[in-house]
Amino acid sequence: MQKVYNPKEVEDRLYKMWLNKKYFHAKIDYSKKPFTIVIPPPNITGQLHMGHALNNTIQDILIRFKRMQGYCTLWLPGTDHASIATEAKIVEKMKEEGLTKEMIGREKFLERAWEWKRVYGGRIIEQLKKLGASCDWDRERFTMDEGLSNAVKEVFVRLYEKGLIYKGERMINWCPTCHTTISDAEVEYEEKQGKLYYIKYPAKDNSYHVVVATTRPETMLGDTAVAVNPNDRRYKHLIGKTVVLPLVNREIPIIADDYVDMEFGTGVVKITPAHDPNDFEIGQRHNLPMVQVIDTKGYMNENAGKYAGQEMYEARKNIVKDLKELGLLVKEKDYTHNVGHCYRCSTVIEPLVSKQWFVKMKPLAEPAIRVVKEGKIKFIPERFEKIYFNWMENIKDWCISRQLWWGHRIPAYYCRDCENMMVSREEVKVCSKCGSSNVYQDEDTLDTWFSSALWPFSTLGWPEETEDLKYFYPTDVLVTAYDIIFFWVARMIFSGLEHMGKEPFKYVLIHGIVRDAQGRKMSKSLGNGIDPLEVIEKYGADALRFTLVTGISPGNDTRFHMEKVEANRNFANKIWNAARFVLMNLDIDTSFKPDERKFTFTERWILSRLDTLIREVTENLEKFEIGIAAQKLYDFIWDEFCDWYIEMSKPILYNKEAENNKEIQYVLLTVLTNVLKLLHPFMPFVTEEIYLNLPHDEESLVISKWPEAKCYYSADDIRVVENLIELIKSIRNMKTERNVSPKIKPNIYIQTNDKLMLEQKYLWEVYVKRLAGVEKIILSEKVPEESVSIVLSWGVCYIKLKDIIDIEKELKRLTEEKEKLIKEVERSEKLLGNENFVKKAPQKVVDEEKEKYRKYIQILKSVEEQIDRLLKLKRDEIRDEL
Ligand SMILES: [Zn+2]
Ligand SMILES: [Zn+2]
Repeated sequence: MQKVYNPKEVEDRLYKMWLNKKYFHAKIDYSKKPFTIVIPPPNITGQLHMGHALNNTIQDILIRFKRMQGYCTLWLPGTDHASIATEAKIVEKMKEEGLTKEMIGREKFLERAWEWKRVYGGRIIEQLKKLGASCDWDRERFTMDEGLSNAVKEVFVRLYEKGLIYKGERMINWCPTCHTTISDAEVEYEEKQGKLYYIKYPAKDNSYHVVVATTRPETMLGDTAVAVNPNDRRYKHLIGKTVVLPLVNREIPIIADDYVDMEFGTGVVKITPAHDPNDFEIGQRHNLPMVQVIDTKGYMNENAGKYAGQEMYEARKNIVKDLKELGLLVKEKDYTHNVGHCYRCSTVIEPLVSKQWFVKMKPLAEPAIRVVKEGKIKFIPERFEKIYFNWMENIKDWCISRQLWWGHRIPAYYCRDCENMMVSREEVKVCSKCGSSNVYQDEDTLDTWFSSALWPFSTLGWPEETEDLKYFYPTDVLVTAYDIIFFWVARMIFSGLEHMGKEPFKYVLIHGIVRDAQGRKMSKSLGNGIDPLEVIEKYGADALRFTLVTGISPGNDTRFHMEKVEANRNFANKIWNAARFVLMNLDIDTSFKPDERKFTFTERWILSRLDTLIREVTENLEKFEIGIAAQKLYDFIWDEFCDWYIEMSKPILYNKEAENNKEIQYVLLTVLTNVLKLLHPFMPFVTEEIYLNLPHDEESLVISKWPEAKCYYSADDIRVVENLIELIKSIRNMKTERNVSPKIKPNIYIQTNDKLMLEQKYLWEVYVKRLAGVEKIILSEKVPEESVSIVLSWGVCYIKLKDIIDIEKELKRLTEEKEKLIKEVERSEKLLGNENFVKKAPQKVVDEEKEKYRKYIQILKSVEEQIDRLLKLKRDEIRDEL
């Protein structure tokens, strides 16, 4: 073994070896149970960030653990085409060349997109390999590859034929910058400072008027009613009458609707069904006409009269000005409200009515709620189920069409001659109704999440009934951050139920996000992101992985500290050094059969502790308590194994003549091999490298057998060693606190009623002498004179003062200190005796001086006492010698 562990050299070499040996490839084995995880496919535009690193480390730990437990494990990797993000990248790049999408056309644009995917799309996959991810790369998929595209078409057609996909006029969220609709889940709300405008709408004959309050006066041009609450006494008499819409001079009705909040503004609201989702619904209820006044680029259209062609915010200014001149603007008020923004580009979302494709959600959501209620799918932690139910129970129809080119084109075709619409798996060239060949395909593509919703079964070959699908579906656990529960998890659940008739996974393991050391979100704008690849380069993937998972608990965020990475790199080195030590003292191989009667109580102790560790880590991993398991492994390896057992084993290990020398070697090798196995899922590289250097039976840790607990437990031995460790640690601490040189070996006097410790003193005393630096251990009922006492959980340990200090040296030091103190006292007395000082100096200074004086006197007294005590000790010693 190399003297120093060099992760850089080791990691690449081992990863290549694992790939060559096909350890990650899942070969169907009917004699084994399958264990499947599908990766949350990263975007092809993505670069590995700490969130991915955490997400994939967790998946890799689970997969490696299950692989070692003997499951037929499949971790299926792949990438997502990320329609909106990728299209934005291509558009941006074309902009540099002075080109737009429209200029080059759909076909040329898609060529560019595929080329971009070819060059950059594999980047994140390579980065996942650096992390050590044990994915089955032979099964890597892409949401737009042929198979998955067929699956998408199949689902679309099936749902359409069932009446679960429809085209309809609906209020949608429009992003004027991205030029596409986005789903409700993609709208981010943010508090904004705005203005509330109060506008007067008069009656035709001016006999009455109402005042409406709005944050968006430009939409008034599209008003088709004003509404009041039916219970509002102030306006009851006006219901059914009309007012004249200012600037447009259109007569609109005053209607009553429960939706209107009597407390808000004046209690009268304008209704613009074409530009507000709530107004849209009121419009539907009251059969109001829809007048669209803003176009898809954020400009006023031909319905806006003299404002047509003006940009929305410019029109707002002009309208407010005109209203003022007409005396119809009653007042303006500052107002904070929640405004929806595009999650991609942060542009303010424009609610628009348009013809789009929708998935009817109610019938799909019901079974998806049921499987979670029945416990067929479990969220970890459970609290996320509430959020899931809340979302699913209030779900609206899902708008799935996007005005983008990169993605799955909607398989709907239209006839230009008879307006017939056809939805088909195959390309349609001839109209099914009139036979015309003047047919074209829908220009829009599908929401990216439409294809990722099918991920757990489309990647296994669906709609074909493949062997993979039969064997590996449903998958076992889905590992994800909490921010995409709705985007993705909920949609996978109803898709799996609808198309496979079975839930797509049994567990949804939710983790938090990785924050910086101060608890802030890592972000580009703050510049506080840490690149996982740089961390791997410097400290190794094992250190990064272990740092990410230590102490995490499901659903909760973690903070990333660089110092922890360093500490975990040191942990890897600690194991490396321990292994080198074991290896250097080893002359047995794995065929050695120990005589267990030759084990001492320390061997029985460490084997008991190992057994407990195996049982607990296995249980923790079964329950997804990864953070707890990591901490237990760290503590056991660092403390119990390296710091204690190895140290305790040395005398026998070094003594080749000892009759149990080989038994000790055997225990060292056994414990080491087992902890390497337990630690392997967390730190795959350093553990494998050590394992292959030790005498070993199995080809590689990756495919080795997970350790099993043997129910080995020896309560007495555990207690004796724990007491022993307590005693050694206490003596060491006492020495450090009192500055006692480690070379000084005092006698210790122990008072105890602990029968076991008394009986077995002959066993443990040798360890205390060697590891705590002690000369003699005396069992004593009496408290020795002038001694330090250490209280233990099983008795009291006394050490005579004269045994730990050099009396002459200490006397000299104390005498010097006494002289210094006397000088200070004299100086202070003189100063305080000076009337001038006491009278003239500020009171504060005088008080401080008095306080100083008091302290000097006190310390002086204590020093004199110590000197007296030491002089007495010295006299006793001389007398003893005589
Ligand atoms: Zn946008
Ligand atoms: Zn036709």
